[in-house]
Amino acid sequence: MKNDKCKTTRVGKRGTLFSFRELEGLETCVYLIEGPRHAFVIDTFLGPKSMDIVKKRLARALRDKPAVVVNTHFHWDHVWGNCAFPGSPVVAHESCRAKIGRVGEKELKAHGSMQQGNVKLVLPNCTFTDRLVYEDDEVELFRSPGHSPDSISVHDRRDRVLLVGDNVEEPLPYLYSTDLAAYERTLESYLSLGAQRIIAGHCARVTRGTIKGNLAYVRAFRNGGTGKYDKGQFRQTHRQNLRVMELLRKKRNT
Ligand SMILES: [Zn+2]
Repeated sequence: MKNDKCKTTRVGKRGTLFSFRELEGLETCVYLIEGPRHAFVIDTFLGPKSMDIVKKRLARALRDKPAVVVNTHFHWDHVWGNCAFPGSPVVAHESCRAKIGRVGEKELKAHGSMQQGNVKLVLPNCTFTDRLVYEDDEVELFRSPGHSPDSISVHDRRDRVLLVGDNVEEPLPYLYSTDLAAYERTLESYLSLGAQRIIAGHCARVTRGTIKGNLAYVRAFRNGGTGKYDKGQFRQTHRQNLRVMELLRKKRNT
């Protein structure tokens, strides 16, 4: 299935990848896992209109199997479609709920022109701190701080597909957390998990090389040796990271 705005791909035995392009041409991924008990919708992109294609798949192929919506982290381009699934639990890290509660309305005002359909903020209503496993579905959600402190990852243990949210990006990740030691541990854990397919929020096919490159960058940033990232394809993201980290550090010290 393919249309101008969303490319749909089957992954493994029970996954569907929806790859959107509405966000300034940047690829953004929504992923559906069809478990025996639940259908998991991981991230909800820019609003209810974006979720129409996902809901069609739920209704037709899955006969409206109960949906569990998952938010990998609080950023607006991952949560605005939560309102398209009334009655479904929205699962996230507890600090994701708190963060959307604090900044959600402000972000909606600031980026409202990007919304797809009429966005009403829906906060995660089922939260966890460390790990949550849907045993019968063989789907594991685990805390993986990095890109942001509230980031979680999803492991489809049956298909061995790992969803890493925005913790991995090509060529460099965007930093919104000062805990870089935690970020390193998260990236290392991805490398040791043995997943067959890794999908990031903005990259449909993540390689181990990309993760290693991201890890090298986070390490360099932590140790203050980022000179080589101040040029070429890295420069723009790196400069933004310097600005954001400076702001976060100032905030922490006030
Ligand atoms: Zn993000």
